Amino acid sequence: MNDVKIFEVKSKNLGTVQVLHRDCPLCGRDNSGEIDNEYSYDVWTIKDCASCGFTYIDKGPDYAKLFEELSWETTTKVEEQRRADLRPMGYKASKLTRMRMHLLPRKQMNLMLDAWAKPGNVIDAGCGDGGQMNNLTPGFVPFGVEVSTDLAKSAHERFSQSGGACVNAPTLAGLRSFPDGYFSAATLRSYLEHEMNPLPVLREIYRVLQPGGVAIIKVPNYGCWNRMVMGNKWCGFRYPDHLNYFTPKSLKKMAMKAGFGVHYGITYTLPTSDNMYAILRREDGPSKLPRAKCGSGCC
Ligand SMILES: [Zn+2]
Repeated sequence: MNDVKIFEVKSKNLGTVQVLHRDCPLCGRDNSGEIDNEYSYDVWTIKDCASCGFTYIDKGPDYAKLFEELSWETTTKVEEQRRADLRPMGYKASKLTRMRMHLLPRKQMNLMLDAWAKPGNVIDAGCGDGGQMNNLTPGFVPFGVEVSTDLAKSAHERFSQSGGACVNAPTLAGLRSFPDGYFSAATLRSYLEHEMNPLPVLREIYRVLQPGGVAIIKVPNYGCWNRMVMGNKWCGFRYPDHLNYFTPKSLKKMAMKAGFGVHYGITYTLPTSDNMYAILRREDGPSKLPRAKCGSGCC
């Protein structure tokens, strides 16, 4: 593994922040010498890997500082302002468009769990306060990993009522605290785009899943039409919160590199949606077979 390079950058909006250099998270290439992607902003340079084509920001926050200098609240406010400055009318139109999209039926992770996973322990990566694991079907026991101490505490209280638990740690470290094959399923909702080390996390998820277990993933789709229309005003860009910009092809490549089989439902990767979904399966054990429709109303 390469030495971790820590350095300071002076961001226009966030001030001086400590960051770690990132090689391509998919193939490991150092793209420092390559030209920046057109969507780079401020000090947050986006690279299209010269070797495998993966799109990513080539530096990321030091986890120890994450909830000091680069908290979600701080960067969200900065991001809102960046978009407002960019073009007020376009910004308003984008917000309205998203409001309209919310009127459409949305895929529900719990229903996808029912369709694809066998009952058992379920781990939610970056689980926040655990609220997203409410209303699991009986038979599924909620677990989580969460880096924020306050949120992890809330999640732990919530999960422990159903026999589960939440570990307060960065995801990779948190996953390492569980034994092999402990979970029947994992959920990664709007999480993997934030992760500094997405491939090691997927490999660790593979390890903690039982043979035949599944990971259900939701990430922004960099290949969507809205990104092509909206350019750097696309809602999937968050500097520097979103470090990884997946397309259906690159997510599949990374998941397969971690050992998984990958299944996309008919509607999981539509270019008309800002987000996409994937079912990752450990194929070394019995699991629910793919169906054209999962029966949950989500396909
Ligand atoms: Zn690469």
